[in-house]
Amino acid sequence: MDTHFFYGRYGVDPFSLFLLAVAAVILGLPFMWIVSLALIVLVVLRGFSRNTIARSREQWQFARLMRTIGHALSPVGRVLQKIFFMIARACSTLALRIKERKTNVFVHCPSCHKLLRLPKGRGKLAVTCPVCHCSFIHKT
Ligand SMILES: [Zn+2]
Repeated sequence: MDTHFFYGRYGVDPFSLFLLAVAAVILGLPFMWIVSLALIVLVVLRGFSRNTIARSREQWQFARLMRTIGHALSPVGRVLQKIFFMIARACSTLALRIKERKTNVFVHCPSCHKLLRLPKGRGKLAVTCPVCHCSFIHKT
């Protein structure tokens, strides 16, 4: 193959890769193969383009758009992350309570509400919270 053919051509950039990814995803949707094909043709045309300035500008605008979207979504992402961790923690606590329900009792600290794990069947226990160091009596 003639290497001069590729000389001065733009090639593949993140924008092209993004278009290919979109093309691959929508290919799975009904009747979207035509859009998918159009995107692939666009990627090929961009790759063979000699107008590298125009292509670079597209890539730059794409990068800017992605950054804008990223900034807009970051508060939503943080909230979702917080909710996710809350659910994950609640699930693991629940799993632990179910697993150890025969050997341990779970009680919330009256002062800081931290969940404490106590051995079961020991009668009245003097409990000291490891977090806030408040002491209380609990019957197990
Ligand atoms: Zn406490």
